[in-house]
Amino acid sequence: MFSIINGLKNYSEQAIQAGRYIGQGFLVTLDHMNRSPITIQYPYEKLIPSERFRGRIHFEFDKCIACEVCVRVCPINLPVVDWELKKTVKKKQLKNYSIDFGVCIFCGNCVEYCPTNCLSMTEEYELSTYNRYELNYDQTALGRLPISLIDDLIIENIFNFSFSPNGKGEGHINHRNVTNFVN
Ligand code: SF4
Ligand code: SF4
Repeated sequence: MFSIINGLKNYSEQAIQAGRYIGQGFLVTLDHMNRSPITIQYPYEKLIPSERFRGRIHFEFDKCIACEVCVRVCPINLPVVDWELKKTVKKKQLKNYSIDFGVCIFCGNCVEYCPTNCLSMTEEYELSTYNRYELNYDQTALGRLPISLIDDLIIENIFNFSFSPNGKGEGHINHRNVTNFVN
């Protein structure tokens, strides 16, 4: 008799515990149902990167002095600086410059240490291609100004997207007139 009572007691304790776990699970589900979606409809909507985003590198050929500092500070010695010595003026003359974005890790060291500031990081992040060799940008490709997402009339731009401590995504959509994205 005593063992039956004990068994029932254990059973009821376990049932209460199980109910508690199920309740906690439902609370998590309800909490997530209350949140706004954090995905965006790419490519119709695009995130505007933050100010210090390290995207595709821009290069100004005329400013480069072929010092090769960018090569020495690069963790993988990536930039290819092709120059020849002009004996008459005793100066290096830059012939070609290239960076392979298929290998670059976008650390920004080359930009940081370039003595003439001819390198800069842009907000461009759409570099995907079907051919990996197309990622090897020469001075012409590197010299192209970045495509501005803000000026693209077809897409909606989401500014300052971030996650608040309660896990909600917050940002602003640019519909030509700026409105609130979430809340
Ligand atoms: S560090 Fe700057 S100036 Fe020197 S070779 Fe590289 S890009 Fe040109
Ligand atoms: S961003 Fe970093 S990895 Fe890429 S070329 Fe510059 S130094 Fe090298």
